Amino acid sequence: MAATGTIFQHGTLGLLVPGLFDGTITAGALLKHGDTGIGTLAGLDGEVIIIDGHAYQAREDGQIREIAADETLPFASVHFEKPDISDQLQALSQADFETQVVRDYRLTNVFAAIRIDGHFKHIKTRVAPRQQPPYKTLVEATSTQPEFSGDDVDGTIVGYYAPHLFQGATVGGFHLHFLSADHQLGGHLLGFEIAKATLKVQHFADFHVHLPIDNEAYLQEQFDNQTIDHAINKAER
Ligand SMILES: [Zn+2]
Repeated sequence: MAATGTIFQHGTLGLLVPGLFDGTITAGALLKHGDTGIGTLAGLDGEVIIIDGHAYQAREDGQIREIAADETLPFASVHFEKPDISDQLQALSQADFETQVVRDYRLTNVFAAIRIDGHFKHIKTRVAPRQQPPYKTLVEATSTQPEFSGDDVDGTIVGYYAPHLFQGATVGGFHLHFLSADHQLGGHLLGFEIAKATLKVQHFADFHVHLPIDNEAYLQEQFDNQTIDHAINKAER
């Protein structure tokens, strides 16, 4: 396991929980810290998928578009792709994939980037609906959200595995997004079944958290760990 590079994360998943959806970093600034990753836009406006240096937004209406450099995000994680593991996967359910990858690549207590390119028998995503200030909480904002699905889809899963100890700073366990090759289907991944795909895993020794210390709402918030844990389990899985 040769750990290379750093995960750069702007904000915390925890700050989304009480509804701190202000955009506090530009996409342009974020992409200086990585060419691959996931996040959401200001106002919890959809799901962000960053692949090969391009940031895309999956919107609640199902459309996918590339994000401009001056658009802002409250939360995102990125890294420069340099996988230390590559493997071929075939006919694998999500549950079997997760068990197998955690076991085979010793993920339990490490940060890792996951990328799966290939053909999927089934994909199910959801997309957070855009919010207007004053913002609701994450659980309220995501209580009704559009879901999308497809069968026999080519595309890319991208995201992270984080140790459960870091639940709150980020999502403990897997947090994966999807973008189809034809840009017709995307979002926060709720379920998948792999037909035939290439898996890349990148282990990290370093997790860099960059906080929005100029944002007044962030400075004023009284965070509660229990509420955050409960909300992440409800909204992000
Ligand atoms: Zn997500």
